[in-house]
Amino acid sequence: MSDQNSKDLDNEYFGKLTKQMDVLLSDLLDTRTQLEQERQLFEMGPAIIFRWGTAEDWPVEYVSTNIETILGYKAEDLINGQLIFSTLIHPDDIDRVRQTASDFLEHDESFFEIEYRLIDSQGNYHWLFSHAMQAKSLKDGNKSFIGYVLDISERKKSDEQLKLAATAMESSVAISITDPEGTILRINEAFTEITGYSSEEIIGRNSNILSSGKHDKEFFKSLWSALDRDGYWEGEIWNKKKDGEIYPEWISMTVVKDSLGEVTHHVATFQDISERKFAEEQIELLAYFDPLTNLPNRRLYFDRLTQELSHARRTKNYGAVMFVDLDRFKQINDSLGHAIGDEVLIETASRLSKILREGDTASRLGGDEFVALIPNLGTELEPAFHNAGKVAEKLFAELAKPYELPERELIVTASIGIILFPDEQATSEDVMKQADMAMYRAKESGRNSYHFYRPSMQQEIEDRYELEQQLNIAIKERQFVLHYQPKVDAQGQIVGAETLVRWAHPKRGLVFPDEFISIAESSQLIVPISEQIIQVAAEDLSRWCEQGLVDEKFVLSINISATHFSMDEFEESVVGNLVLKGAELSRIELELTEGVVIKDFDKTIEKMSALSELGIRFSIDDFGTGYSSLQYLHRLPINTLKIDRAFVKDVVTDSGSQVITKTIISMGRNLGLELIAEGVEDTSQRKFLEAHGCFQYQGYLFSRPLSEPDFCVFLKHPFDIDDESIVQPIG
Ligand code: C2E
Ligand code: CA
Ligand code: CA
Repeated sequence: MSDQNSKDLDNEYFGKLTKQMDVLLSDLLDTRTQLEQERQLFEMGPAIIFRWGTAEDWPVEYVSTNIETILGYKAEDLINGQLIFSTLIHPDDIDRVRQTASDFLEHDESFFEIEYRLIDSQGNYHWLFSHAMQAKSLKDGNKSFIGYVLDISERKKSDEQLKLAATAMESSVAISITDPEGTILRINEAFTEITGYSSEEIIGRNSNILSSGKHDKEFFKSLWSALDRDGYWEGEIWNKKKDGEIYPEWISMTVVKDSLGEVTHHVATFQDISERKFAEEQIELLAYFDPLTNLPNRRLYFDRLTQELSHARRTKNYGAVMFVDLDRFKQINDSLGHAIGDEVLIETASRLSKILREGDTASRLGGDEFVALIPNLGTELEPAFHNAGKVAEKLFAELAKPYELPERELIVTASIGIILFPDEQATSEDVMKQADMAMYRAKESGRNSYHFYRPSMQQEIEDRYELEQQLNIAIKERQFVLHYQPKVDAQGQIVGAETLVRWAHPKRGLVFPDEFISIAESSQLIVPISEQIIQVAAEDLSRWCEQGLVDEKFVLSINISATHFSMDEFEESVVGNLVLKGAELSRIELELTEGVVIKDFDKTIEKMSALSELGIRFSIDDFGTGYSSLQYLHRLPINTLKIDRAFVKDVVTDSGSQVITKTIISMGRNLGLELIAEGVEDTSQRKFLEAHGCFQYQGYLFSRPLSEPDFCVFLKHPFDIDDESIVQPIG
């Protein structure tokens, strides 16, 4: 072969070679690009690619950089051994992972798969799925692993939820799962128990089959918008059972979405809360309503009053509070029994409610105390006042109607105290206090009436309180003294005397009974006062007898107040004190007013008879002013009628007084009663009385009430009945 030839051959060969090399190179480049592209693709994907050694710590030879986005670690930290992969595996899982890897190597299998937890750079565990196979180490040709790892945390979570859901379905709480249109897909046992629908009956039907119709569109609108917004709603809903029963349930609704955020299901869990609600209602009822009358109680009433007060202030609209107190309710209760008392209260409540309009509140504060709250009486004071008066009149008329009770008819009157609000600063307590004062006033002015509050009452109440305090001291220190006013007959003979109490006040001097008796009565202080009076009177009387100052006719009369008389042990109290101080019972006369004796007639007869049998006498004081009828007076052991001062005063000049006086006298005589006229101030009065058959007198004409020593002097010096100069100036 020539050089040229061999050169040509060489050229040809190299040319071919170069070509081949070019092809190879471009192939290689292609492959590299392809590989690079594939690698990039991997790196964007969810799988992390690994190659690692089989040595103890599994040294990482390669890891795709997407590990950083998935787990937060830098690939190079693992590759250069700064981070040891096996230490990132959950301590509970590491042994299992090691075991699986070593089994795999031992049995020479083609691949292995395992799930385990691995901590990320933030300290959170991820569930990973790992698929690996054997490879040859690029470094030393030794065995190594190559594989990928997938983050399966989300799937794990939903697996758990599924498991949870399955157990939840067995719970005692009812569950229904519907599609977004409300078609029921699944229910549980508890659902059937509550609603009565079995799964065969209800699956495939729309959940609106359960709706009770009790909620309006607005309700569902807000429910759905909450579900949209929060994916969750809970609350109370009234639903309907299969048998038509409507019941309240407490329901929680949850929206379930798929990975794209589309709603796939609604899950509702609910409980029948009828019982709970019933219990709640009962508690509410107990807390806010009076169980006997079902009216709002004190608590609810005060809530409303406070509201109305501020409303009235805001709107400058007057309202009224009417405090209603039944007259003598205690007596009804005591004499007719509590069952009748309850009937009366229930009836009163219903009458109150009947008169009041919507927006008004009737309430029972306790006992026989009721109150009506009447807002919106107008913005002008005068008409508001007028309107309140009209309501009171109506209320009054309604309450005055006879109570038709089983077996009997009863008249129950009431006293009403009225206050208009709002006053500048008055709180609800103030308002109630004032209404109470007004009511008290109504009672004082003879009950069965109504009374408006006037601001001056406050002062009166304070004075009254002050006086009560002082009376308490007076009782302890026995500051009461007795004056005696003689009673004489037509011949001028002293036939007796009336005991009249005075209070020897340390600062004020002698205080007259008109100033303190009624207060003592209303505060029950009258009882100890009365007992002291009886004791002193009995003491004085027995001393006068001992000293021979009085003859055998002499009778001492003692005024008895209503409260004392109505006390349970009245007879014992009177007799006990009289006997204690040595008084002869037959020389004692108790002066009762008509009002006192007709109050509880049966009891009165009982008490008076018991005392009368012991020789004690009775007179009816102020006779003619009350409304007593003879019908029952003659059934009482009365000895004397005492003609009231008011008639005696005008008996000479006024024909009306004359008629009454004459009637009383003839009436008394017909009944065989003694008659005495009180307040006799001049001889013409005495003469008129004598001419018409009244032969006993008491009054300034003969003597003013006298202190005990003065009275003793008077007893020792009889006087001429027709001598007008004897009128004594002492008080
Ligand atoms: P009363 O029982 O009607 O007593 C008669 C009152 O008339 C006495 O007033 C007496 O001073 C007054 N009086 C007597 N004669 C005349 C007269 O000729 N002209 C005038 N204008 N008045 C005369 P007093 O002592 O102020 O008693 C007032 C009321 O106080 C009594 O009315 C009685 O209801 C009550 N009271 C007096 N003492 C007692 C008592 O010891 N116990 C009780 N519970 N009440 C008493
Ligand atoms: Ca009297
Ligand atoms: Ca009198």
